[in-house]
Amino acid sequence: MTRVYFLLGGNIGNREGLLAEAIEKMKIEVGAFIQTSSLYETEPWGFTHEQNFLNQVVVFDSELPAIDILDKTQAIEKELGRVRKKTQYCERTIDIDILFYGDSIIENERLSVPHPRIQERSFALYPLEELIPEFIHPILKKTIKQLKDKCADELEVNRFN
Ligand code: ADP
Ligand code: MG
Repeated sequence: MTRVYFLLGGNIGNREGLLAEAIEKMKIEVGAFIQTSSLYETEPWGFTHEQNFLNQVVVFDSELPAIDILDKTQAIEKELGRVRKKTQYCERTIDIDILFYGDSIIENERLSVPHPRIQERSFALYPLEELIPEFIHPILKKTIKQLKDKCADELEVNRFN
């Protein structure tokens, strides 16, 4: 059994509804649901989006190997992320990234775990800090709180609920 931390995010459609639906599907596919962070809203940067991003960290205990979890979460992204418009598909509405898979370090062509950009992204570090401020990043050997305090990301991240 491995404790797995995911970052969910989306900026299109019913953002809260899609995050909730993703979590419901993950409960069926991934393993035992443990908890979620609050929702965080991130301003778009550099370019225009129709909505700001909502992000949330979600925690599961899973018996599955990480690569099988990626298969499951990519299938869920497909199910939820593509809205049929006539015969065409439009853009993805939900992103599910694996942040941590226990203390494991995984590096192959499909998967980098811990997610390589956690330390650069306030929208990952804020919700992680809410849940596991003292968790030590298995590669960087720093706590989430230490990573957040030295993160230079200027992007505004606000509690949404
Ligand atoms: P991004 O998350 O960077 O916006 P995508 O969701 O389209 O982009 O993912 C691109 C690829 O990233 C996926 O096909 C997947 O194989 C790979 N990937 C590598 N590491 C991870 C990870 N930790 N979590 C999720 N996907 C990952
Ligand atoms: Mg992704």
